[in-house]
Amino acid sequence: MEKTVSFEELDKLAVDLADFSKENDVIALIGDLGTGKTTFIKTLAKELGIEENIKSPTFNYVLEHHGGRLPLYHFDVYRLTDPEEVYEVGYEDYLNNGGLVVIEWADIIESELPKEYIEIKLYYHDDDSRKISVEFIGNSERERELFEYVGFSN
Ligand code: ADP
Ligand code: MG
Repeated sequence: MEKTVSFEELDKLAVDLADFSKENDVIALIGDLGTGKTTFIKTLAKELGIEENIKSPTFNYVLEHHGGRLPLYHFDVYRLTDPEEVYEVGYEDYLNNGGLVVIEWADIIESELPKEYIEIKLYYHDDDSRKISVEFIGNSERERELFEYVGFSN
């Protein structure tokens, strides 16, 4: 589904998603620079109970954060030149390690995304709102649950 949201509503979506997520879930964040991917993950991490500061892992591609309800594995694949390079930082292991995997610039590794994942697309709308698209790729049952959980009517 698609809608235009205020930053407040976007923050609420991040909180709800943190609470909705189960171990081994994957959230693919797709959107241009400045649309709010990192901010979204900060809000989500806080709701998970992670106290560490969240910064984009631009140079090392992945950062782990423990101490929350689920471990958070935060990828930023912006600088990858070949999608397959993501395996060099242990991508495969992170996918099945009992944590929540969140990937900034996930479109760059679209060919390597798992069969099921939550896709959040962010588009610039104006200075204080964004257009978003939310889907649970590959699992329509959980998509229904997600939309119900976050209060989206489809
Ligand atoms: P990205 O990681 O997609 O490049 P950021 O998360 O760094 O984007 O956000 C860029 C800027 O957009 C922030 O510095 C802030 O000004 C604004 N912004 C994005 N999301 C929010 C939000 N949820 N609440 C308030 N401001 C936001
Ligand atoms: Mg960012």
